[in-house]
Amino acid sequence: MGQIRLLSETVASQVAAGEVVERPASVVKELIENSIDAGARKIDVMIRRGGISLVRVIDDGCGMDRDDTLLSLERHATSKIRSATDLQAVATLGFRGEALPSIASVSRFRLTTREARAIAGTEIIVNGGKLDVVRDGGEAPGTQVEVRSLFYNLPVRRKFLRSENTESRNIEHQVHLQAVGHPQIGFSLLRDDRVLFQLPAAATLSDRIRDLFGAELLQRLVEVTNNRSPQIRISGFIGQAGVSRQTRTQQLLFVNGRAIESSLITAAIREGYHTALMKGQYPVTFLFLELDPASVDVNVHPAKREVRFRDPTGVREAIVHCIQQTLEGARASWQEKFRAPVTLPAAAGKAGPDLRLRPEVSAPHEIYRELPHLGPAVAGGGLSAVASAEADDPGRASAGQALRPPAEPVDSASEGVALQRAAAKTAQQQFQIIGVLNKLYVLMENADGLVLVDQHAAHERILFEELRRRMEEQGVPTQRLLLPQTFDVPPRDADWIERNLSILQRMGIGIESFGPGTFKIDSLPSFLDVSDPAQFMRKVIDDLKSASNTVSAMRLGEEMIAKTVCRHAVKANDALRYPEVEKLIRDLLDCDLPYCCPHGRPTMIQISLAELEKKFGRKV
Ligand code: ADP
Ligand code: MG
Repeated sequence: MGQIRLLSETVASQVAAGEVVERPASVVKELIENSIDAGARKIDVMIRRGGISLVRVIDDGCGMDRDDTLLSLERHATSKIRSATDLQAVATLGFRGEALPSIASVSRFRLTTREARAIAGTEIIVNGGKLDVVRDGGEAPGTQVEVRSLFYNLPVRRKFLRSENTESRNIEHQVHLQAVGHPQIGFSLLRDDRVLFQLPAAATLSDRIRDLFGAELLQRLVEVTNNRSPQIRISGFIGQAGVSRQTRTQQLLFVNGRAIESSLITAAIREGYHTALMKGQYPVTFLFLELDPASVDVNVHPAKREVRFRDPTGVREAIVHCIQQTLEGARASWQEKFRAPVTLPAAAGKAGPDLRLRPEVSAPHEIYRELPHLGPAVAGGGLSAVASAEADDPGRASAGQALRPPAEPVDSASEGVALQRAAAKTAQQQFQIIGVLNKLYVLMENADGLVLVDQHAAHERILFEELRRRMEEQGVPTQRLLLPQTFDVPPRDADWIERNLSILQRMGIGIESFGPGTFKIDSLPSFLDVSDPAQFMRKVIDDLKSASNTVSAMRLGEEMIAKTVCRHAVKANDALRYPEVEKLIRDLLDCDLPYCCPHGRPTMIQISLAELEKKFGRKV
């Protein structure tokens, strides 16, 4: 079609130069990108020996005529941009006209191509950059590129390659990326004549994720639902709160269809997850950003892996907000499973102890005061026995109850409102507690099947949200120290404390400056049990300092709460009585992010009836 032109010297120099071909996976990337730009509906990739011996990419795209085929091997020859102005808004994956000549100069390269209506196609063979053969050829319409013996003429480069296995895995990851980025295109990957995957052109992104990573992963993802910023459209799927990985291989990001790496975006995702992500773990994301091509510079990295945003702050904020909203929105679907009535066996009332819900035992209390003081269950009496005793007379003092301090009266108005709100919400929840396993896991039934709750993680989440709410509303209740304590810190820490004094006070730490490098504490949050306040403060400062550069003031408070509630929460071996368990579950379900603790570990695991049926072979 005669579309390719040589860029002028000036434009060519504006195109960021750089090594395009680092390893076999870069060859695969560049070739697939070309196929996508050529409008392919189907792309077949084949590799041998980690791609070092062979990479072959076949597409059914538009193909090229003879002139373009020859021109495509010239440096800076491209059909995708014409002028420097075009560089400001690149809409294709390629734009530099560098890939084919670069690849052909370091391999034994063969390209055959045919346009759909052409009678004959073209075949060219280039060895180490030298054009050896040009002749008629090309079978089906489209383009086929074969790259053999990569770096055969650059022994130094070749030595830098990793094992065949590692190179294969890099290639596989690369094809995954492209396949997720373009679900409407069919992909296949053959490794040493073994089919690794064969993906039909999928109707939707979720189909593609399921085909590639399995239905189980898809079930644990939530669709991103956010469109706050008109400049940035964010779509795709992210892992539910509590879902994470040890590596970043499932953290996929796309900007205008291009798979990229971006520390800005990954930091924003982290911030969005905050307590919903386990420390040291990576989130699972299939996140797509669409924005005006003019507001993204793709011409910053030799392999086009990174981009620069014109409004980085806007992008950051949009992502943080989007992740937060998505995670909190996902709660609704979780709660659905607790709304439909649970069917009880007919004999439940008569035979065994009655475990049905009794609203009177779930009167809201200040849980974070109440729960930590829970006493052990009545000796020898299981959960069910206690539950039936409670049923007769919920107010009766039993051995177990005697250990519990009386619930404190609700005094402030705002608290009253909050409690009413909580009560209204809880009234809708339906579940039936079956028992507690190993003094740790609460087993219960909801409309969807079996739910397992980690009571310790659940309590952490409840305390965390309760304290956060208090911190936002009126400040954390504090307790005066019998003897105020002073302590010295190095100048840098002193600086940090000075800057964050008001937050520390909001968090319930009564701290003030007491001369250069010296501070005095006279009160601490009353939920803490601290024997050495000075040492405690040093630890808090250490913990928080590392977090404080990137996060907001409120986040700092949250960090501190997350760090401290753990020590305070119901422990694994604390035996709880039925009403306490029930209250724990109700309070958990009222949380903003009920399904993970403040450290990102799951609090609840749902095993659906369908899953159980499958496991028991009742359904295939
Ligand atoms: P770029 O992709 O940056 O334009 P390349 O060196 O990768 O540079 O490719 C040069 C040109 O060759 C492309 O602009 C395109 O016109 C053509 N080309 C490359 N691969 C294909 C393909 N698979 N199908 C059709 N045309 C292709
Ligand atoms: Mg290209």
